Amino acid sequence: MQEGERIKGGNFPVKWLKSFVCNCRSIGDNQMVSFSGNHFDAAIVGSGPAGSSAALALAKEGFNVLIVEKASLPRYKTCGGGVVRRARNLLPVNIDRVVKQNCSVAELHLHDTDLHFRAMRHEAIITMTMREDFDLLLLHTARDDGAVVLAECEVLDVTQDRHSVTLTTTQGNISAKFVIAADGVTSIVAKKCGWKENRRVVPALEYEVSVSQEILQRFNIAARFDFGIVPQGYAWIFPKGDHLSVGVLTTRRGSANLNEYIKEYFMITGLTDITRTERHGFMIPLSPRKDSFVKNRVLLVGDAAGFVDPVTAEGITFAIKSGQLAAGALIEGNFDQALVSRIYTSALKKFILPEIRAASILSKLLYDFSSMRTWLFRNYGSRLCEAMVTVVTGERTYHEMLFNPKNYVRLLHQR
Ligand SMILES: Cc1cc2nc3c(=O)[nH]c(=O)nc-3n(C[C@H](O)[C@H](O)[C@H](O)COP(=O)(O)OP(=O)(O)OC[C@H]3O[C@@H](n4cnc5c(N)ncnc54)[C@H](O)[C@@H]3O)c2cc1C
Repeated sequence: MQEGERIKGGNFPVKWLKSFVCNCRSIGDNQMVSFSGNHFDAAIVGSGPAGSSAALALAKEGFNVLIVEKASLPRYKTCGGGVVRRARNLLPVNIDRVVKQNCSVAELHLHDTDLHFRAMRHEAIITMTMREDFDLLLLHTARDDGAVVLAECEVLDVTQDRHSVTLTTTQGNISAKFVIAADGVTSIVAKKCGWKENRRVVPALEYEVSVSQEILQRFNIAARFDFGIVPQGYAWIFPKGDHLSVGVLTTRRGSANLNEYIKEYFMITGLTDITRTERHGFMIPLSPRKDSFVKNRVLLVGDAAGFVDPVTAEGITFAIKSGQLAAGALIEGNFDQALVSRIYTSALKKFILPEIRAASILSKLLYDFSSMRTWLFRNYGSRLCEAMVTVVTGERTYHEMLFNPKNYVRLLHQR
């Protein structure tokens, strides 16, 4: 076959197929795929945890699914790479081989009040990964179940008619019955489909840091969260086996001098003798969109929808969950536009939005009212830490924690 030649049975240029095969080499598989044409049941934009989870759920049921990814694979993603247990519980695949470290201890340090807490479990509270490995594993699993992956293919525009959606990409047009927009916080699909920017988007800075063995050992026991260094935010140190992931974020909108805060954090925690740093900054959407999550035949998932935990700024859980819910809605709604929209919207109202709403109340208490935070942690610190751990491990929900009156009675009794 020549470059650009059409594949038998479909009309994809061969360079697409080549790109797919090349990009799979790193995961040790040169298998070829067969296309039945460039019209798909679902085209998914973005190969993060939201996109791969949606693709996997659809491919498992035998649907004709395409994932379009603008980056070459594996792609670096600015992220702490902490997969909390409630996220891990949602995964239909074992991720042991991409685990850098399991943290069954979580520490909380409040520097403004000199309070320090530690929570422990038998199992990991947070599993540390590098996102390029974690995301590739999920993508690999979806592809093995039949999803087609096109890397180095950027979606530039989206148009819809009554029966299908067309994606204009750097490699030609793709059409599908539905599009799932899993293209992250800067979602081009949402923009092109007319969604307004009404999420609360905040900045975060993350460093991959290599340090001496001695320092590594000091930090390799726990996932650590520090308050009172970054205004209206927190700093973290996540051990990644051979290095540390160190970061800062603020829940304040707009610009913040995160560089200064991270330098201060290095000093306070005694992170010296750094032999290598890699610095990455990006944005986190801390609130969901206000103008729906479906427009005709396009569904938003993950960061594109703004599904991030506003307390922890952890987005992998809701990325996976919303990807699965979107795929479930297509299947259950039999690819009928009105039905799919109704099913997806009501699933979000049941499984994701109440959690984010409850978490955002807690996040206001934590970040916007520091004197209230101090009072709460002085009086109920250990109980609050334990309660947070039960949420991130999936033992209970924010909604249950905040709206069950029995919890307040228990808290007062155990003061
Ligand atoms: C500094 C930082 C630290 C974080 N730490 C954590 C953490 O420890 N734990 C946690 O749970 N969450 C963390 N998060 C949040 C988490 O990274 C996101 O919530 C999560 O990645 C969202 O997944 P997603 O699949 O929706 O989008 P993404 O993972 O962002 O994936 C989107 C994909 O779409 C692709 N894409 C974008 N535009 C196009 C286009 N036009 N055409 C084709 N492809 C496109 C991108 O290349 C990308 O691969 C952190 C975020 C930041 C910024």
